[in-house]
Amino acid sequence: MTQSTPVRVGVLALQGDTREHLAALREAGAEASTVRRASELDAVDALIIPGGESTTMSHLLREFELLEPLRTRLADGMPAYGSCAGMILLATEILDAGAEGREAVPLGGIDMTVRRNAFGRQVDSFEGDIDFDGLDGPAHAVFIRAPWVERVGPDVQVLARAGEHIVAVRQGQVLATAFHPEMTGDRRVHKLFVDVVARRA
Ligand code: GLN
Repeated sequence: MTQSTPVRVGVLALQGDTREHLAALREAGAEASTVRRASELDAVDALIIPGGESTTMSHLLREFELLEPLRTRLADGMPAYGSCAGMILLATEILDAGAEGREAVPLGGIDMTVRRNAFGRQVDSFEGDIDFDGLDGPAHAVFIRAPWVERVGPDVQVLARAGEHIVAVRQGQVLATAFHPEMTGDRRVHKLFVDVVARRA
């Protein structure tokens, strides 16, 4: 691929902070579009699952008949990045997944166990600078009723921790952060993801 052909990255737009990710992706050099239906998922090289509410997004994924198409794309190796609720959905196992019948559903993009609202039980939201493997200097991390990662599989790389808790991970072409880089002006995490997609495209 040439520099003049930008990668096409979708943002799942059923619920959550879609707009911030679209803006961040464009600033990171990608062509960005919303994904609400299977045909829109088919048209992108990669997908961001935004922050929001993972239980509601799970419900809407079923309603919009996107759950199985998305699982299939991930199983086929589509690059993906999930922030906060998106991290929860990308897991293989979710703890405290929500009320019965309304649980957040794991899509299985990263071999990890994530605890939903983990920090939320201690403090609803907080921010701070954390070291992030692969970035030149710390990232400012905003946590909002954020999950943390309690277990990672052998192929998962830990990219960042807040205290002892794992808050950013990567497995192959799939990234996840418990925090929201799209809410800061810092585009380095989105650039990192766009580079992952470009190298694969
Ligand atoms: N607590 C939310 C959930 O369970 C995540 C919060 C967020 O995305 N900022 O999905």
